[in-house]
Amino acid sequence: MKFPFENAYARLPEACFVRLAPTPVKTPKLIRFNTKLATELNIDLNGATEADIAAIFSGNQIPDQADPLAMAYCGHQFGQLNPQLGDGRAILLGDVRNQRGELRDIQLKGSGRTPFSRGGDGRSPLGPAIREYILCEAMHALGVPTTRALAVVATGEEVVREQMEPGAVFTRVAASHIRVGTFQFFALRQDYEALTALADHVLERHYPEIDRSAEDRYLQLFRAICMRQAHLIAKWLQLGFIHGVMNTDNMTVSGETIDYGPCAFMDAFSASKVFSSIDQQGRYAYQNQSAIGQWNLARLAEAMLTLFPAENEDDAVAQATAVLKEFSEVHGQAWQSAMNRKLGFSEVQEGDLQRIAAIMEWMEQGGLDYTQFFRRLCHVTQPQQDRSAVLGLLTLPECRNSAAMERNLHEWLDEWQQQLAQRESDAEASVIRMEASNPAIIPRNHRVAEAIKAAEEGDYSVFENLLAALADPYTEYPEFAAYQQPPQPEQKVLRTFCGT
Ligand code: AMP
Ligand code: MG
Repeated sequence: MKFPFENAYARLPEACFVRLAPTPVKTPKLIRFNTKLATELNIDLNGATEADIAAIFSGNQIPDQADPLAMAYCGHQFGQLNPQLGDGRAILLGDVRNQRGELRDIQLKGSGRTPFSRGGDGRSPLGPAIREYILCEAMHALGVPTTRALAVVATGEEVVREQMEPGAVFTRVAASHIRVGTFQFFALRQDYEALTALADHVLERHYPEIDRSAEDRYLQLFRAICMRQAHLIAKWLQLGFIHGVMNTDNMTVSGETIDYGPCAFMDAFSASKVFSSIDQQGRYAYQNQSAIGQWNLARLAEAMLTLFPAENEDDAVAQATAVLKEFSEVHGQAWQSAMNRKLGFSEVQEGDLQRIAAIMEWMEQGGLDYTQFFRRLCHVTQPQQDRSAVLGLLTLPECRNSAAMERNLHEWLDEWQQQLAQRESDAEASVIRMEASNPAIIPRNHRVAEAIKAAEEGDYSVFENLLAALADPYTEYPEFAAYQQPPQPEQKVLRTFCGT
């Protein structure tokens, strides 16, 4: 097997990482390999057997030209600064050049202890590995910037959590693993040489459109990072996704979603929804994600202040503040146009916000399934179309149905259909727009839980079937119809866990 390693990160100052190899595992067995992604990454399998692949993606064999290392970073966890985090259970094998000429990190997760492990064992149970595989590949298929899944290998070892669990190594692919917390790490230590080298690396790697000789290049970089996050978080909201642990060490500077721990998609809509068992205050609730995104970016601004082209600190703070304000505006616009597309509109007009707010409120009051509601709207854009599939959502076991609710929905549908007819001359284009932003299938928590449970018992078919169902989420396939269904009351997942 041959990898086109470049290892650009390994050439940064030594303070950025610790070089070390993964810790070998007992009996690696390949559970899943993403061959298509491997091809995109220019990995030459060259007749490699499953055992060869398992040996590499368990960390038992280091590929030629790899330069394995654990990255240093810190971060605010639930608002509290933790000055020392870093890859405690992950090893970056190196970065490779993909078919589009972009650098991509290949990282093993669950690959043993590192100097950053603190109290942890450096390992990962199988469950979280399966979970991350499903979630990140689903996000990719849904069109959300995200890290990707390349492989899951069972280790043949057990890890101790609340009980003994089978161990696994998950291979993650990312535009890079550089986080807001990576910048914080060097700012906190006043290591301006490493901070500048890191910023230059990020400029070249993720924002080549910024002129690297411009005096304000780092301010431009900060702004560009903020804009990517503004769009990213709008996409999460549009899909009913709750990241669950938006600590600054779990926010990339590339604009990809990272760290699929306790994340979850909502079934019934609730603006204050929280799944994560460790998020007791609801800091990372669905509706808080925009504000938290901005809070995290303010921490990035603090870390980058010395790089801004300002006379003094006050000037630098003013520059950062202007960008953070722009983040809110751009994010708000991105969110609104995304929600408008879900309703079939090609542009935003006055009064649209109220229409969106009203339907979100009905959804919340009625306990309507977020994904199914919008998907079914695609089939009732015209007054003569049968509305029973939409109204039928009110009769699901979990819904709070009432005559008033039905009346409200009818009124809302009437007004919306009139607007569509007035504003969108091409009705078909409108439906196509809706279908392209209202998925039929999302990785529902009960389906993910079911796949994990079966995998833990040695049956990977449930996992495979779910991946197949999630591969083309904006199209309705009869064979995957069951995956569109929300959970029955007894199937509901109330809490999600980091599982680390
Ligand atoms: P996370 O909650 O995944 O964002 O991880 C937060 C920090 O805890 C990171 O520094 C991880 O590397 C570290 N960590 C999480 N799980 C483990 C583990 N099992 N062993 C060592 N470090 C861990
Ligand atoms: Mg993390």
